[in-house]
Amino acid sequence: MLSIKNLHANIEGKEILRGINLEVKAGEVHAIMGPNGSGKSTLASVLAGREEYEVTEGSVEFLGKDLLELAPEDRAREGVFLAFQYPVEIPGVSTTNFLKSAVNQVREYKGLPPLDAVSFLSMMKERMKLVEIDQSLLSRSLNEGFSGGEKKRNEIFQMAMLEPKLALLDETDSGLDIDALRIVSQGVNKLKNKDNAVVVVTHYQRLLEYIVPDYVHVLYKGRIVKSGTKELALELEEKGYDWIKEEVGEVL
Ligand code: ADP
Ligand code: MG
Ligand code: MG
Repeated sequence: MLSIKNLHANIEGKEILRGINLEVKAGEVHAIMGPNGSGKSTLASVLAGREEYEVTEGSVEFLGKDLLELAPEDRAREGVFLAFQYPVEIPGVSTTNFLKSAVNQVREYKGLPPLDAVSFLSMMKERMKLVEIDQSLLSRSLNEGFSGGEKKRNEIFQMAMLEPKLALLDETDSGLDIDALRIVSQGVNKLKNKDNAVVVVTHYQRLLEYIVPDYVHVLYKGRIVKSGTKELALELEEKGYDWIKEEVGEVL
């Protein structure tokens, strides 16, 4: 599904990603961990096509297409979804209207007719249950004045509506209390199937007790320096990152 090869990216002339290699297949869950400032959010942003980042080397293939050639909105239409660490607020646009437009753009891209109002509402009602989101939030301006937890739930709700093939969740767990964490994770798990894939960026092993990864990768100084299974996350929780820094010290 996703094939990242030797990806290098800069921001403001500073090299942040220094040769990322990652293969994600349909049906898989990958977790990306690593110390602060390693480039995790940068990787997510580059995949989503945020224009502050300049790709200087390497390639990203998504379902056979050159992802880096696509405009951000086309990446979304192709089925890439990014839940940001800090969801944006859009004053004056309700979540409902935002989603109606987003869902219909994806449908148009797939050659499907737009959903009529009744079908759209019934889809909303059904998916709202997944994340136990309050209906009143959906008529308010997108994310404006939402609590941290409400924003994160709303991100997963958007994901439920858009049914992406590849979901990138950047620290969706940070700032969530234990109940919200469970609900957000359950939402992700219900949406997971053999045809889609999830990449979660997290600092905490805790999230991975709910969203169980097939693979865990450690990003450090712009490279994936270690990969393993979910036991690696447990080891990191227990021992921190210093041993990894020592292990890869000479390589970097
Ligand atoms: P992580 O998500 O792993 O904590 P980030 O990808 O957010 O790391 O950041 C990686 C590095 O890139 C950090 O050194 C950070 O200061 C730098 N960086 C990120 N965004 C910007 C920016 N807009 N301008 C300058 N430097 C940035
Ligand atoms: Mg960070
Ligand atoms: Mg980050």
